[in-house]
Amino acid sequence: MSLQDITARIHAAEAKAGRTVGETTLIAVSKVQPNDRVQAILEEGHRVFGENRVQEAAGKWPDFRQTYSGIDLHIIGPLQTNKARQAMELAQSIHTLDRPKLAKTFARLAQEMGSCPDLYIQVNTGEEPQKAGVMPHEADEFVATCLGMDLPVRGLMCIPPVEEEPSLHFALLGKIAARNGLTGLSMGMSSDFGSAVALGATHIRVGSAIFGDRVPV
Ligand SMILES: *Cc1c(COP(=O)(O)O)cnc(C)c1O
Repeated sequence: MSLQDITARIHAAEAKAGRTVGETTLIAVSKVQPNDRVQAILEEGHRVFGENRVQEAAGKWPDFRQTYSGIDLHIIGPLQTNKARQAMELAQSIHTLDRPKLAKTFARLAQEMGSCPDLYIQVNTGEEPQKAGVMPHEADEFVATCLGMDLPVRGLMCIPPVEEEPSLHFALLGKIAARNGLTGLSMGMSSDFGSAVALGATHIRVGSAIFGDRVPV
C-alpha cells in the first residue's frame, strides 16, 4: 500500500469514529527494511519512524538525519538496560518502558543528560508469558512509580496476542490509560490499525503495509 493509501484509511477511520481527521500519528516501522525503501518514504516527506532494535537504529538514523531534518524516531522494541542511554540519545520516544529497573535507569540518565524522550509504558494486555510489558493489574502502580520518578510518561502501548480480537485489547489499554490520566495510546499495526484508530490510538505503528514484507535477515 502506498503511504497515501494508508493515510487515507487512517483519515477515514478517524472520521467514522468522530475523531479529528489527521490527529493520529503514523509511525512508519522501518526495522529490517532496506535503506532505499526507507529513503523513498523520507523523500515522500514522512518523518516519523519506528525501530525495534537500538543497534539497528544506530546504524541508520544518524546518517539519515544528516540529509533529512525533523526526523522523529520511536524505539518500539524491548530494551535492555545497558542500551538505555543509546536509545535515549537516538530517539524522541521510547514505547517499551516495562519494568522498574528500566524506569530507574531512565530516571538516572535523564538527570545526567538533562533530557528524556517521551515514554510509553508497555502493557501486556493478553498476559502472555513470552511477551514484555506490565500485567494489566500492575499497570496503575507502575504508572504511579514512573510518574513519581518525574519520568515523562505520555501514554501506554500494547501488542495484542496474534490469535485474539485486537479491539478488546485496544479497549482495555484505553481504559487503563484513562483511569491513570494518560492521553497517549500506542496501538495498532498493519493488520489492525483501523480498529485501533476507532478506539482512540494516538500513535499507530505500521511496518509491512507501508514497506512491503520484511526481508528476512
Ligand atoms: C514490527 C512491529 C510493528 C509493525 O508491524 P507490521 O505488522 O509490519 O505493521 C509494530 N509494532 C511493533 C512493536 C513491532 O515490533
